[in-house]
Amino acid sequence: MVSFDSFAMVDWSGGKDRGAAPKADAIWIAVVRGGQADAPVYCRNRQVAEDLLAALIEEERAAGRRLLIGVDFPFGYPAGFAAALTGSDDPLGVWDWLEARIEDAPEANNRFDVAAGINRALGGEGPFWGNGLQRDIDGLSRTKPETAAFPEKRECESRAKGAFSCWQLSGAGSVGSQVLMGLPVLTRLRRRFDAAVWPFEPLDKPVGLVEIWPSLIARTIEALREESEIKDRAQVRIMARALANLSPDRLGAMLDVDAPEEGWILGLGHEEELARAADPLQPPPLSNDCFALPPGVDWTPVEDALAHLRNNLGPVVGVERRGLSEALGRVLAEDIAARRANPPQPNTAVDGYGFAGGLQDTASVTLPLVEGRAAAGVPFKGQVPAGHAIRVLTGAALPDGVDTVVLEEDVTTDGARIALRGPLKQGANTREAGEDVKAGEALFDAGRRVTPADLALLSATGHDAVAVRKPLRLGVLSTGDELLEPGQTAGPGQIYDANRPMLLGLAARWGYQPVDLGIAPDDREALRARLDASAEQADVILTSGGASAGDEDHMSALLREAGAMQMWRIAVKPGRPLALGLWRGVPVFGLPGNPVAAMVCALVFALPALGVLAGEGWQEPQGFDLPAAFEKRKKPGRREYLRARMRDGRADVFKSEGSGRISGLSWAEGLVELGDGARHIRPGDPVRFIPFGSFRL
Ligand code: AMP
Ligand code: MG
Repeated sequence: MVSFDSFAMVDWSGGKDRGAAPKADAIWIAVVRGGQADAPVYCRNRQVAEDLLAALIEEERAAGRRLLIGVDFPFGYPAGFAAALTGSDDPLGVWDWLEARIEDAPEANNRFDVAAGINRALGGEGPFWGNGLQRDIDGLSRTKPETAAFPEKRECESRAKGAFSCWQLSGAGSVGSQVLMGLPVLTRLRRRFDAAVWPFEPLDKPVGLVEIWPSLIARTIEALREESEIKDRAQVRIMARALANLSPDRLGAMLDVDAPEEGWILGLGHEEELARAADPLQPPPLSNDCFALPPGVDWTPVEDALAHLRNNLGPVVGVERRGLSEALGRVLAEDIAARRANPPQPNTAVDGYGFAGGLQDTASVTLPLVEGRAAAGVPFKGQVPAGHAIRVLTGAALPDGVDTVVLEEDVTTDGARIALRGPLKQGANTREAGEDVKAGEALFDAGRRVTPADLALLSATGHDAVAVRKPLRLGVLSTGDELLEPGQTAGPGQIYDANRPMLLGLAARWGYQPVDLGIAPDDREALRARLDASAEQADVILTSGGASAGDEDHMSALLREAGAMQMWRIAVKPGRPLALGLWRGVPVFGLPGNPVAAMVCALVFALPALGVLAGEGWQEPQGFDLPAAFEKRKKPGRREYLRARMRDGRADVFKSEGSGRISGLSWAEGLVELGDGARHIRPGDPVRFIPFGSFRL
C-alpha cells in the first residue's frame, strides 16, 4: 500500500519572474508534513521553486518521511506524441528530451522556439500553437491550426471539464508553457533524488511526483478560500490538506489508474471524495428540510408534490470509473465528448477501385492499377498517382491520392487496368472522416443510462472507461404485525407480505440495487433499531404501512421524532398520506400499506425522485390519450389513477377501484390518469393512458 507522510502541492507557472511581492499566476507551494500545514510559500520564479523543492526533499528524506509532490501541469502528452518525438512511447523520454533543450533564465527562455522546432521536425503546423511573442516564429502559429496530427487532449483532459490542451502555449488559462518549462525541472529533481513519477512508475521510492489539477474541486476551494487569499495559494493549500487527509487506502484507490503514456490527473473521477477530504465538514447531500412543504397547504396537489421533490432532491450516490464492459445500465456521471472522430479517417463504403477526382461526363475511361490494395485495417502506404486507380475494400482508409471510389460491379478489369464509365461524383462511395461524429463533439449528458448502442458509440469514439454513478441501493421494508413471510403458517388475522416482493421487483426493474430489509413489527423500538440498521445498508428506503397518524403508525411517529419527517397529504387516489423523511441522512419514502396505493405512489412519486437520487435527473412518464372504454363520474379536488389496459385502441379500467385489490395490479398494463377537476367520463371520451413501460416496468 502506498503511504506518504508529507505532501507538497505546487501551482506552477510558465512565465517569467514575477517579482518579490506575492502575486497570482506565479508559483505557490504548500506543504503538509506529518499532518501539520506550513503557510504556503510564494516563489517568484522557477529557479527559486526548484531550489525550494530540492531543499524540501532533502529535509524530508533526512527525517525519514515519504514525500508526495503534486504539480499542476500535465506529465504527458496525447497518445502518439512521445513516439513521434523520441521514437519511444515512454513519456519520461519526453521529459529527458525537453530537459536537454529547454533553456530557462528568470527573464527569458526558449520555450516558443523549442515548440516551433518540434512542429517543424514533425512536418506540420502544430501540434503546438499560440506563439505569445512579438516576433513571428517559423513553425509556430498564433492561432490553432486547422489540421491536427495528434489528439487535442489527453483522455483525462477530455474527462475533466474545462481542462486546456497542452498544445496551447499562450492565452488565458493555457497550460502548454507550464509543461515545457516544468518538465525539465521535474526531470532534474527526479534524477537527483531518484523520485518515482506517477502513473508511469510504481510509487515505491521515498519521493513521488504526481499530477494534480485543483479545479477538480473548484467549488470546495472557493468555499474554503480565505478572504482576499490569492487563488493559487488557496488551491495548493487546500489540495495539500485534502491529500494529507485521505487514508492510504483511499489515496491508493485514486492512484490506481492505467495511463502509461498520457499520464493522469490524480483524483479525477473521485472529485466528491477529494472535496470531502479537503473539508470533512461537508453538508449532507440532502438538507434536513428537503421534504418540508410550504406551511398552510392542506391537500397538496400532485403537481406541487412532484415539483417539490424535483427541486429539493439531489444525487446521493458517489462516482466511480468503470470499463465499458461494466458500464451497461449505469448512469453517466459526466458529460461525454468523442475522443476520436467516427470514422477516424476517410474510408471507402464499398468494395471497388479508388482514384482521384470523379468523372464529369458519360465518357468511358481506362485507368492503370497501382500494385497493392487497401483493406480495412491494412492501409495502403504509398501514393496513388493522378490518373491511376487502386483496389480498395470496404472500410479501408482512403490511400493518399484517392478521394472517389467506383463500385467493383461498375468496372471491368484485366488485372492491370480498369475500365469504367462516368459520370461519378467526386467523393462517391466514400465516407468522410467525422461524418458520423467529430472529435470533441458532445455525445452524452451526465445522467444518461448507458444503452447497448451507447457502448458502440463510446467504443468507436475512443472511450474505454467512463465515470458512472455508484448503483443506488434501494432498501425495502414492510411494517405491520399482521405480515408473514412467504411459506410461514398463517394464523388468524395474518396476511402474507405483498408489498415487499413488489417493491423489490420495482427496484430491480428500475436498475437499482434491491436491498431486502425484511418486515418490522408494529413496535416503535424495534422499528427504530431496524431503521438504524437499514440506513447503513441502503441509500434510500421505501417502507410500506404505518405511515398514517393512527396508534400503530410508528413509521410516521418515528420520522416525526427524528425531526425530519413530513406528512404529505397529497390530493391523490389511491394513496393516503405519504410519510417522507430523512433517517440518519437517508431519505425514507413511507408508502401507504395498501398494495394498490403503495404501487401507485411508488410509480408516481418514488420513481422520479429515485431518478434524481441516483443521478439520472428528473424524468416524467410519458402517456397518451385514448378513448375511454368505460363510464365514470369523478369528484373534484384530487387526481386519480385507475388500473387500466389498452384493448382495441381504447382504455379499459379494472372492475373495482378498491385499493386492496392486488389482482387488479396484475390485470393492468398501465394507469389511466384523471386530472384534478371534476369529470364525467363517457365511453369514447379521451383519457390519458400511461403504459407501465413509461414507468420503466
Ligand atoms: P397501514 O398503512 O399499516 O395501516 O396498512 C393499510 C393496509 O395495508 C392494512 O390493511 C394492512 O394490512 C395492509 N398492508 C400493509 N402492509 C402490507 C404488506 N406489506 N402487504 C400487504 N398488505 C399490507
Ligand atoms: Mg400497519
